[in-house]
Amino acid sequence: MKIIDVHIHFTDHEGFRETARKAGHENSAEHLRREFERLGIVMAVAMGAGRGGDVDGLSVPRAVDLGGPFDPVRYGQPEFIAFCCGVESRTLTPENARRSAALFEPMLQMKQCVGIKLYPGYNRCYLADPIHHPFYELAEKYDVPVVIHTGDTASSNGILKYAHPLTVDEVAVEFPRVRFVMAHYGNPWIVDATEVAAKNPNVFIDLSGLAVGKFEPREFFDHYRGYLEHIRTWIAYLSDYGKLMYGSDWPLVNLENYIEVVKSLIPADHHDEVFYQNALRVFSKLVPLLPR
Ligand SMILES: [Zn+2]
Repeated sequence: MKIIDVHIHFTDHEGFRETARKAGHENSAEHLRREFERLGIVMAVAMGAGRGGDVDGLSVPRAVDLGGPFDPVRYGQPEFIAFCCGVESRTLTPENARRSAALFEPMLQMKQCVGIKLYPGYNRCYLADPIHHPFYELAEKYDVPVVIHTGDTASSNGILKYAHPLTVDEVAVEFPRVRFVMAHYGNPWIVDATEVAAKNPNVFIDLSGLAVGKFEPREFFDHYRGYLEHIRTWIAYLSDYGKLMYGSDWPLVNLENYIEVVKSLIPADHHDEVFYQNALRVFSKLVPLLPR
């Protein structure tokens, strides 16, 4: 089975070395290349979480980062990794939002930049806040999706109300020509995320982050039986497999384990859509990047 992983983290962030080790991995491009080959993963989308943030009073794009400063001219990242440029919303103001968005244009013109990532729960800012409007306009102009971290935040400093999947509804309605991706299925607000995706034709779900670490599958499936059944119930309620995409959140989870988890959630005759085809429709810039 060919797989596209629409949600990984590819950075030299200090903590990720230990995180990767706990998941039975190593936080390096070479290790990732070997694992991807072994598991049939042909392409991945990394969430922009590298250096960026607040420079000269503007919010500059956060790109992928594994060793050395990001260089948009000489991309220098493995050919099997595309990325979403990350927006640091906490440094955006009504005054600088438009000028900040302009800094994202050269990045969006790169062939490897396939989307825009927002972190409202960490940045304490609603998606519908007008400071984000210039970024939705850019997403429409460059025909890339806006990926939103929805659901639980990895750190207790996050504020959940900003990361709730219901917040995606309003921007989906106001920007009907932009594709929005709810990362992590809004977990644990699976019911709410299902409704937002069911109601809005332009909203999609990435299935990353529903489990972490490395685990013994039988124990995992036993312990989380009710949780997994709940997710299956709402996936069946949605009954639209064109809305769902495989993502792992590597290096937070063991890739082989996670493929098994997602396989168990999706009926076998929809695996090709969820693990591969849907990613190419939602992240349309991935198509020319695929290996021949
Ligand atoms: Zn993530």
